[in-house]
Amino acid sequence: MKKILFKLPLFVMVALITFSCSRNPVTGKRQVLFMSEKKEIALGKSADPQIIGSMGLYEDEKLQKFINEKGKQMAAISHRPNLPYEFKIVDSPVVNAFAVPGGFVYFTRGIMAHFNNEAEFAGVLGHEIGHVTAKHGARQQTSQILSQVGFMAGVVLSPEFRSMAEQASQGMQLLMLKNSRSHESESDKLGVEYSSKIGYDATKMAAFFGTLKSLSAKSGQSIPTFMSTHPDPGQREQKVGLMARAHQQKNPGKYKVNRDSYLALIDGIVYGEDPKGGFVENWTFYHPVLKFKFPVPQGWQYQNSPTQFQMAPKDGKSMMMLTLAQGTNLREAANNTAQQLNLTVIENKQTRINGMPALEMISQVKQQQQQGQQQQGAAAQQVKVASTFIQYNNMIYVLHGMAYAADFNNQLRTFDRTMGGFDKLTDPDKLNRQPDRVRIRTSNKTQTLQQALQAEGASSKDLQDLSILNGMKLSDRLTTGMKYKVIRNGNMR
Ligand SMILES: [Zn+2]
Repeated sequence: MKKILFKLPLFVMVALITFSCSRNPVTGKRQVLFMSEKKEIALGKSADPQIIGSMGLYEDEKLQKFINEKGKQMAAISHRPNLPYEFKIVDSPVVNAFAVPGGFVYFTRGIMAHFNNEAEFAGVLGHEIGHVTAKHGARQQTSQILSQVGFMAGVVLSPEFRSMAEQASQGMQLLMLKNSRSHESESDKLGVEYSSKIGYDATKMAAFFGTLKSLSAKSGQSIPTFMSTHPDPGQREQKVGLMARAHQQKNPGKYKVNRDSYLALIDGIVYGEDPKGGFVENWTFYHPVLKFKFPVPQGWQYQNSPTQFQMAPKDGKSMMMLTLAQGTNLREAANNTAQQLNLTVIENKQTRINGMPALEMISQVKQQQQQGQQQQGAAAQQVKVASTFIQYNNMIYVLHGMAYAADFNNQLRTFDRTMGGFDKLTDPDKLNRQPDRVRIRTSNKTQTLQQALQAEGASSKDLQDLSILNGMKLSDRLTTGMKYKVIRNGNMR
């Protein structure tokens, strides 16, 4: 099993921030920093396993070797060459790149699939290394450092459900740094400088902002955090372009783009959701690796992450989630969960679900006023929880359904349908589901991108995605011998 969907909770990292005054390596100015270099490295080292644990590593040896080589080369010419840099590709379809203090830099497989040459990659690499060398993360406030694994878009989730979902996957909080506009501008500048210094054409970094702009304009696309807190990509495209040209005029020479070699490198990269992490089809969630399935209530929104699968109706009046419970048997798992989630158990009983040993539990969330955590505004409403623990394949899964006490009985039937429908997955069609992959083609004549894609059988609904993926307009011309990307399922060439 390459990637285990549900990981056991790690402890939430608490960043201890102390003040120290030192010279900023990039600006050379003395400033109050929140962290010493030693603390930065310690922070990065503790965040790294959480990031890899919750997103998974995308295993591709030649791609990993490439980002290591370029990363080390760039780190050496940066303002802080002596940090213990690490460069990794995480298994996420979202187009994103991020860095944490101490020199830990991450690219998603989604962003790697969207680059169209080495120069675009080098520009973003320089931008992320820039956040590290300019100590942007180290300047953040503690409150901004920890943010949550995403919740469902378009659902008005009540704070009570939200906090319960957070607690159920405690430790799955990702260290994501929200960078301010001024930090972004500074990093863009460093991206131009660093990528130019290792010989890449930084005007291509500007062009990549065009790709980001098209992605964010596309409706229904999750907004990559790489840009959600960032200034308008259109403006950045212009500014970075100007800086890149200025740098090249001052330092004349030949700057590399390396399109074909980059495309060869990503030939076969997984594109979009990978079914091995679980997928929903016809209102059923299937997990081909862990070999189970259960029904998703019709019309509900859902979100799959490596640590939990959440479901909720659009009005957010109730919520269900599947996660792993800790314990060697059902009773122990139920006790651990009640303790972890601060639940008062009302009743429980052992039972069987589709032949598997199970334990059903009804509980309510203890009203918590301790821990100095003040409830804002009116007193929180009482939340009741129905939980079903199921023992299957040496793991204990738990499905929670939660609703306000007043509405709980109305929701119970919906909860029961999903929980009672948890079953073994044996259907070979679902078990063998393969992800889509990017494949590289060579144009055998002069034609538009659209003509080339259609000749390869691309459907009209995919044309827009494919044009963004290629960083081109559909009307752009391909000349004979020019490479372009298509999408194929599984191992189809
Ligand atoms: Zn940034």
